[in-house]
Amino acid sequence: MSYEAYKMDELGFTTRQLHAGYDPAQHNRSKAVPIYQTAVFELGDYDRCVRLFEYAEEGHSYVRFSNPTNEVLEKRVTSLEGGTAALALASGMAAISDTLLNLCVSGDEIIAVNTLYGGSTTLIGGLFKQYGITGKFVEDENDIESYRALITDRTRCIYIESLGNPGINVLDIDAITALAHEYGIPVVIDNTFCTPYLFRPFEHGVDIVCYSATKYLAGHGILIGGLVVENGKFNWLNGRFPQFEEFYKENVDLIGEDVLAREMFTKRLRMVYLTDLGAHMSPQNAFYLLQGMETLSLRMERHVSNAQQIARFLEAHPAVKQVNYPGLESSPYHALARKYFPKGPGAMISIRVNGGFEKARQVLDRVKVFDYMVNVGDAKSLIVHPASSTHFSQSAEGREKAGVYGDTLRLSVGIEDVEDLIADLDQALS
Ligand code: PLP
Repeated sequence: MSYEAYKMDELGFTTRQLHAGYDPAQHNRSKAVPIYQTAVFELGDYDRCVRLFEYAEEGHSYVRFSNPTNEVLEKRVTSLEGGTAALALASGMAAISDTLLNLCVSGDEIIAVNTLYGGSTTLIGGLFKQYGITGKFVEDENDIESYRALITDRTRCIYIESLGNPGINVLDIDAITALAHEYGIPVVIDNTFCTPYLFRPFEHGVDIVCYSATKYLAGHGILIGGLVVENGKFNWLNGRFPQFEEFYKENVDLIGEDVLAREMFTKRLRMVYLTDLGAHMSPQNAFYLLQGMETLSLRMERHVSNAQQIARFLEAHPAVKQVNYPGLESSPYHALARKYFPKGPGAMISIRVNGGFEKARQVLDRVKVFDYMVNVGDAKSLIVHPASSTHFSQSAEGREKAGVYGDTLRLSVGIEDVEDLIADLDQALS
């Protein structure tokens, strides 16, 4: 591959997951992206220092603000997503919380769905209250009027996930982005379960994408990381965001109008929230994440193929009373899944077993190939009981709204031989 491949956005997804954003000529022609294991960079001279701190010149001063390893990761994910800029953060929750803080000040409101990752629900509906930010949860996530009913002058975003958790439900994302834009409101999506390989949020009008990179992007359960990617099309100066108006006025002469037009959200995220709250991703983790992403498309194809076969097997199993997987024709979300996820609706499956909580517990005790762990998106297959783990901190009512019952199990289907996975589930359920 020539050294020019790093900037060729017309190349295919799999080619870009290996090359985009990295020019070896700028790094002693090291073929692997180097880990810049330093806390700080020499400033050179006084004038350069001032330019760096004003963000008038590209470059690195202190690793918390930016560093060359993370920069490659940010450029690579920007390319894969088809966006204009990205920021790497310490975790998925750092990506989500900093994103929402970038959008909201005290008195503002976030509209969200009930079927979110439990940590996001707790953040939006709980912790943010202490800072005067109100989370409003839609009554029926399948009814667009439920979203409209919650919009006020203080709404600062609609927050959704590309696949619900753990009900694995699919939203009509085109309808949600159209509604939000009618009111000048951005849509933020957590695309963790799909990755940019299976779902293209920006092609459906989404404005900001958040990832727990801990999951499929890294792919091997070896790190915690988060990413935020910007579409570059939203008008942050539309009157709803005084903090962006102020940021624009303060920085336009230094950073430039064209840069701010493309990536004002990410610039402010870096300069205010990454800098002041400090949840940066270490270069070492950025390196591991880049390694994982080199095989993303191949892993996702195998994840999806295994999940489809396992969902069919579970649907026919007498010990299973309900299977939630939008790839099944019987799923109420099948038509939406075909529209939004032409390569397949991911590899997360949730089931309800006959025999209540005791039966669910038995399955957890009996699995041998599946690992009983709270993570998802590992190359290895994982199983968990959401009510006692991922959704533990929610009220019983909140859990039911998210589709979490005592007999619910969530599977993150890995890339093992599918026959082994099916045999393992069969012996555990029977
Ligand atoms: N979003 C989703 C969909 C998740 O499943 C998780 C964690 O399980 C997160 C966000 C939070 O990510 P992290 O654990 O990397 O902070």
